[in-house]
Amino acid sequence: MANCLIAAVEAIGAAIASNKEVLTSLDAAIGDADHGINMARGFQAVSGKLSTLAQTADAATVLKTVGMTLITTVGGASGPLYGTAFLRAAAAGQGKNTLSPSDVGNMLAAAIAGIKERGKAVRGEKTMLDALEPAYEAFKSAEQQGRSLVECLAAARESALDGVMFTKSIIATKGRASYLGERSLGHQDPGATSAYLIIAALEEFCRS
Ligand code: ADP
Ligand code: MG
Ligand code: MG
Repeated sequence: MANCLIAAVEAIGAAIASNKEVLTSLDAAIGDADHGINMARGFQAVSGKLSTLAQTADAATVLKTVGMTLITTVGGASGPLYGTAFLRAAAAGQGKNTLSPSDVGNMLAAAIAGIKERGKAVRGEKTMLDALEPAYEAFKSAEQQGRSLVECLAAARESALDGVMFTKSIIATKGRASYLGERSLGHQDPGATSAYLIIAALEEFCRS
């Protein structure tokens, strides 16, 4: 379990690393040009930390390590937000040795609730939530139809991408991009994009 989860987190880190420039240039347009740098640094540190975890570590310990590491190593809004998401997912997955689609859905819901509490944002403010909330809804509806984890993640990934595209059409009212007001229109949110990449990486990982 721990090995599989560590490999999944490594897959997320690899996706972030290979999209570092994309994320940073999206942030250059409406923020401070560091989202890719922040995320890549965070997942690099996560990778180092996970390599020191005992083979016997359980799912919750792995996720908690990811969350704590992101919070302590990523400067910027995204570190505490994604860090909180992983900590909440850890709590929701506490004591589990296998993860069913329903378990993963609960962990995703807990992660999103954590992001909302920490960042005081709601959907429609041009943030990572605009990818994550539709992704969760699609995941949940696939899960309720009895789909496999990969199918649920594929549905989530599709809706996350729609959410990313939707961020172009709205004005930012949270985070740095909100300083731009109307000038944030037409630009894709970097954090929504990294959220999409994370879900897509998980789907691909579960497929392989
Ligand atoms: P910073 O803006 O501090 O430089 P990053 O560039 O790493 O941090 O992350 C920016 C991203 O964080 C944004 O694109 C947005 O998706 C997300 N974000 C910012 N503030 C919030 C918030 N209050 N709630 C949810 N997401 C947020
Ligand atoms: Mg930034
Ligand atoms: Mg910054």
